[in-house]
Amino acid sequence: MLLIKNIRLLAGILPAGVTKLAGADMARLETISDAWLTVGDDGRIAAFGPADTMPAESGYARVYDAGGCIVTPTFVDSHTHLVFAASRQGEFVDRLRGLSYAEIAARGGGILCSADRLNAMTEDELFNSSLHRLQQVAACGTGAIEIKSGYALTLEGELKMLRVIRRLKQAMPGMTIVATFLGAHAVGRAYAGRQDDYVQHVIDDMLPAVAAEGLADYVDVFCEQGFFTVEQTERIAAAAHLHGLSVRLHANQLHTSGGVEIGVKAGAHSVDHLESAGDAQIELLARNTDTIPTALPGASFFLREPYAPARKLIDAGCALAMASDFNPGTSPTGDMRFIWSLGCISMRLLPAEALNAVTINSAAALRLADQYGSITPGKWASLIFYHPDVPDIDYIPYAFTHPSIDRVMLKGEFTTR
Ligand SMILES: [Zn+2]
Repeated sequence: MLLIKNIRLLAGILPAGVTKLAGADMARLETISDAWLTVGDDGRIAAFGPADTMPAESGYARVYDAGGCIVTPTFVDSHTHLVFAASRQGEFVDRLRGLSYAEIAARGGGILCSADRLNAMTEDELFNSSLHRLQQVAACGTGAIEIKSGYALTLEGELKMLRVIRRLKQAMPGMTIVATFLGAHAVGRAYAGRQDDYVQHVIDDMLPAVAAEGLADYVDVFCEQGFFTVEQTERIAAAAHLHGLSVRLHANQLHTSGGVEIGVKAGAHSVDHLESAGDAQIELLARNTDTIPTALPGASFFLREPYAPARKLIDAGCALAMASDFNPGTSPTGDMRFIWSLGCISMRLLPAEALNAVTINSAAALRLADQYGSITPGKWASLIFYHPDVPDIDYIPYAFTHPSIDRVMLKGEFTTR
């Protein structure tokens, strides 16, 4: 057993059984000043409380002095494309020079460019580069993460990506990883101009192979004008359900695509992006609380495009989540503390609302809220220890480039610095 003493502020406490915080409750942040916390040998939170109730140190094999710092639960990043072949800073510079997305795609950029590079890599190369990125996001405070395929768009390549994700789980057991099959991210090159045939390939060939190997927890579709239609999304979702897989969607990023409606209808655990969601979609999500609306402000920031209507979603009573959308094309960061800041700075969330969006509610989006997202006995002791110079919780999203995080614990063990 481990006893952690001298915690100046223990934040993000929730009773067992709370699976998300919605509407006005999102501003709720339970804290204990001058606290202690114990971790069982199973890596889970055993107990915590104020200093005057601390158990005797002699009863613990290990005692850690937190040095008067703030402690919160680790972030849960519920939407990433962390497995990719190479960064795309060339496109970034092209855009700065004034080239449009279409011109960049014509020069060989975009998702298909990522697919070409990934299909040319060995599984080992892809695994090594992805493990490095995973270790980096863990150091940034992420304790559980969803990772999508979708940068191969061929049967073999998609399986390769998902096998890499499976190897990442084995290589980093302290991190909980959720795998999502995103074969319908774009139409693979071999199917250019034959979009419906590609959808059939996803349904008839890719999905059964993915399910047979048990490689995915979820199926995702980029439901968007120019990518996949509502009707195609519905067919892929139905096929996913036949294989016992749940659905989450890329919805309403660029247009009012119908993605939110089909997501709710298909029982999607989350609909993500929502930059183009209007009042009708907000109202629908407020009434269908099993589908977690997820904002991805990193992509809006990087592309200088509108943000999801996060304030309106919360005011309508939704349990809003936020995630990084870590990917080489439109959000090249997996730093969830920056996403927390962006939620406040660009979407006008209160610090507590934005923190709940990147902890308990993003855990809810992955159906991991019984394991992550709060300080609760029985949940994983996956914790962020901030530097003692961080004065309070509000300072963390406010000082958005300050290196606030001192140490990260995953399932009861500190990550190496
Ligand atoms: Zn995405």
